[in-house]
Amino acid sequence: MRILILIAIGLLLYVIIGNLLRRNKPPTPKLSTEKMVKCRHCDLHILEQEAIQSGDDYYCSQEHLESHHQSK
Ligand SMILES: [Zn+2]
Repeated sequence: MRILILIAIGLLLYVIIGNLLRRNKPPTPKLSTEKMVKCRHCDLHILEQEAIQSGDDYYCSQEHLESHHQSK
């Protein structure tokens, strides 16, 4: 009977540790998709994924990217 109890305890620990490991896994990072950036040309705030990046700068539209580069 002692063997059965050990097996039961072993299974219980296996399930508990499995749950803990699963819970400790970090959730899929979605921070980058919600990051706000500022248009270098008109200071409009836009989502990084919708912005047009040029080097370290962001622009709300292709026109602003081009007009900012032209004004330099
Ligand atoms: Zn702009």
